Amino acid sequence: MKAVVFHRHGGPEELRYEEVERPRIAAHGVLIRVRACALNHLDIWVRQGIPGYQIPLPHISGCDVSGVVEEVGGEVAGLAPGDRVFVSPGLSCWRCDMCLSGRDNMCPRYRLVGAQVNGGYAEFVKVPALNAIPIPGSLTFEQAAAFPLVTVTAWHMLFTLARLQPGEEVLVMAAGSGVGSMAVQIAKVAGARVITTVGSDEKIPKAKALGADEVIQHSRERVAERVKALTGGRGVDVVIEHIGPAVWDQCVSSLAKGGRLVTCGATSGPDVKIDLRYLFVRQLSYKGSYMGTRAELLEGAKLVGRGQLRPVVDRVLPLQEARQAQELMLSRSQFGKIVLAVRDGA
Ligand SMILES: [Zn+2]
Repeated sequence: MKAVVFHRHGGPEELRYEEVERPRIAAHGVLIRVRACALNHLDIWVRQGIPGYQIPLPHISGCDVSGVVEEVGGEVAGLAPGDRVFVSPGLSCWRCDMCLSGRDNMCPRYRLVGAQVNGGYAEFVKVPALNAIPIPGSLTFEQAAAFPLVTVTAWHMLFTLARLQPGEEVLVMAAGSGVGSMAVQIAKVAGARVITTVGSDEKIPKAKALGADEVIQHSRERVAERVKALTGGRGVDVVIEHIGPAVWDQCVSSLAKGGRLVTCGATSGPDVKIDLRYLFVRQLSYKGSYMGTRAELLEGAKLVGRGQLRPVVDRVLPLQEARQAQELMLSRSQFGKIVLAVRDGA
């Protein structure tokens, strides 16, 4: 089959479109003919290499996948060739205390499709049958690839970690990012007042269309000052962020007393300064989030299937253009997800 592969860690030039062996499935596995695979920042980290994070080489990235079941293993029930499915990216053991208490993203053996095992930048991908889930509603393959990772992440951040309540005020950083575009919508559906940020004027109406009540253009407005003005000087109850040092101080200054800041990324770098006096006097919580549970993904997928949450696809490129797609993502000009489409014969 054709796939986009890297043989060593490095820049986007390491991505090569080439012929590789088609994956072979085990008794509990399914082989999916990939139709679409959405990009995530994780793909960049995996390509560059992350300290302490084992990536088998050569490697195929891509954790947000949709397609058609091609072949099922002998022990698989409930799935058949021809089924339209999307992939739940988290792989867990389903036997440990974490898995059995519904916290499968904390499983000691937790791994991700497209990180520790090969992913969907390819004509075919294999996953355990449990990870192939029927596409909800009437979503296209591109939409079905665009929602899983950002939906499960935003759901876990807003509900499980921040314990968002109806009527609360939320600041979602970067409405144009994948997680941001979904967090704005989920917070709105949950009955929150949503303030978000964008980096250019043309993204303002797009952020409003997602349901944002207020949009701050961060290239010409101070985020924390605007948040304070919009909340009568109080600040927001919850901040959802994934950018890191470039925005950290603004996020912290935007919090109301008792506010909760949840972060799931470090696109501008790993190090931030924390003033402990500010943390305890204002009784703040800072929480880290990594993916989410299978149950949260299924909850989110229900709303996606009903059209209450909309996967935001910025553009679709052919698989062969994975390198350009990653470079485009790094330019931050997109609004929503960049998706690779896989055609027959790729
Ligand atoms: Zn487990």
